Amino acid sequence: MEASEVQQILERAGAVRHGHFELSSGRHSATYVQCALVLQYPDLAERLGGALGEKFRGMDVECVVSPALGGILVGHEVGRKLGVRTIFVERDSSGQMALRRGFELRRGERAVVVEDVWTTGGSTRETIGIVEQAGGRVVGAGALIDRSAGKLDWDVPAKALIEISIPSYEAFECPLCRRGEPITKPGSHFARLSA
Ligand code: ZN
Repeated sequence: MEASEVQQILERAGAVRHGHFELSSGRHSATYVQCALVLQYPDLAERLGGALGEKFRGMDVECVVSPALGGILVGHEVGRKLGVRTIFVERDSSGQMALRRGFELRRGERAVVVEDVWTTGGSTRETIGIVEQAGGRVVGAGALIDRSAGKLDWDVPAKALIEISIPSYEAFECPLCRRGEPITKPGSHFARLSA
């Protein structure tokens, strides 16, 4: 799937928002991509996740692992495309990401870690660490959208459907804060506000 087609799908679904946002990484930005707004349509989720899964074909992937919550639907569709099981990591009571619900990896099991959006890639990195700790072998990482425009460093082959360059700022250097524009913290809240 061409990046232009991905962009068209995101915009048609209203997943690209303009304003003043605090991203989950803590950085501020004038543009926010709310993947949940495109993934609410199962056919679009299947097309996007399938296109991402296609990039890992031929890598003998045995398992897909995603960080909850945003990564789960993407992981599900990547797993469907590759015909392999799909599990997720989530925060435990101490706030640490962990494999729960009886999810396990076999020693040496070949896994890809996928999620919806990379800004700093922190959730994917954390998930990679958990998979390795559990004995799995991470053979690739993927996201629907790479907001870093390909600038992130990965120790494994990394694939994104679209690389976009949206400036983001630390709060202290944010021009939108300086202009006094009210800030929105998206996430689960955001979807409810726009519903
Ligand atoms: Zn700001």
